[in-house]
Amino acid sequence: MSAATPRATFYAPSGLVPMAAWVLLPTALVPLAALFGIAYCVVIVLIPFLKLRWLGSLALGWVLGLTVAKFCHLTKVRSRSFATLSAVVALLVAWYSAWGIHRTVIVVAQLGPDVGLAQLVVLGFIPSEIISWMKLMFDQGGTAQLKSWPLVGVWLIELATIAYFTITTFKAQQNDQPFCEHCDRWNGTADPFIELPVSAGDPAWQPVSEGWLDGVRKLKVKEQDGEQVTLLLSTCPECDRSNYLSASGGGWQPDGNGGVVFMEIPIIRHMAITPKQIEELRELGELLDEAYEELQGTTEVDENQADGTADWPESADAPASEQATDGSNTAYPDAEATPPKNPFSGER
Ligand SMILES: [Zn+2]
Repeated sequence: MSAATPRATFYAPSGLVPMAAWVLLPTALVPLAALFGIAYCVVIVLIPFLKLRWLGSLALGWVLGLTVAKFCHLTKVRSRSFATLSAVVALLVAWYSAWGIHRTVIVVAQLGPDVGLAQLVVLGFIPSEIISWMKLMFDQGGTAQLKSWPLVGVWLIELATIAYFTITTFKAQQNDQPFCEHCDRWNGTADPFIELPVSAGDPAWQPVSEGWLDGVRKLKVKEQDGEQVTLLLSTCPECDRSNYLSASGGGWQPDGNGGVVFMEIPIIRHMAITPKQIEELRELGELLDEAYEELQGTTEVDENQADGTADWPESADAPASEQATDGSNTAYPDAEATPPKNPFSGER
């Protein structure tokens, strides 16, 4: 038997940026961001209540973050730096466009549209015109009756608000699924495929997260406090080369105020596994399910498991070395079907 140490490989984006993304950044994302910025400015100027204006900043950030996330997904961007660049470009373009249209919107709002609209719009977007417009408000006061440095402070807070909501929305909406470079497509979303009645804090996860998937057998069953760990699988719908395993646990924990709160604990994130390993995990999951049900049946008469944990049925607390040498391994629910040698070694 090979004693090679399995080395877990985890998904890492390849860093590739398809040509389509380079083309569509200036031709689609930039015009869209400009439109959003203009719409934002119109809404901000027309909202009569100053205190509600931050809602406009929130909405602009949300729309920008969502748009950049969709843009990166559709153009198959696998580079974090390019995604960040897209977000920064969209933010700056929207911000610049909001300023570019600001004077026009205010003039039209006060004097009506018969003021040479086209000329106002074109002039408004010239950088030197924007700067002189800002200086004018700095000296004479803006629409909010503020002027001088307090007004600049408001502008900065507004920009920071938009940037904050752009970033948080982008992070929440961006596609973090693995990408199958072979098929040039995103993997499917990570679907739960096994639920284990075990704790996320079990030290036996350590070897599992290093690639010893067989270590799942060493996890202790939690039978009382409702903790469980879900194994999730993200696979390529078109081939069997891109399979990634994730595991996250959760349970109800005290929140410090006398209540309880559900805490999700990530354990493994996108670890590469083979189709054979998936099959073995699936079989193992079924065995664990049976063992758990058996255990639930026995604990009704056996109430001395006060610590809330239990071994698998018939499990001897044999040390790992003993299990490895002892051919009649009894630590597993079904020793016949699952021989004790590590079926995951030497597969990579
Ligand atoms: Zn594929």
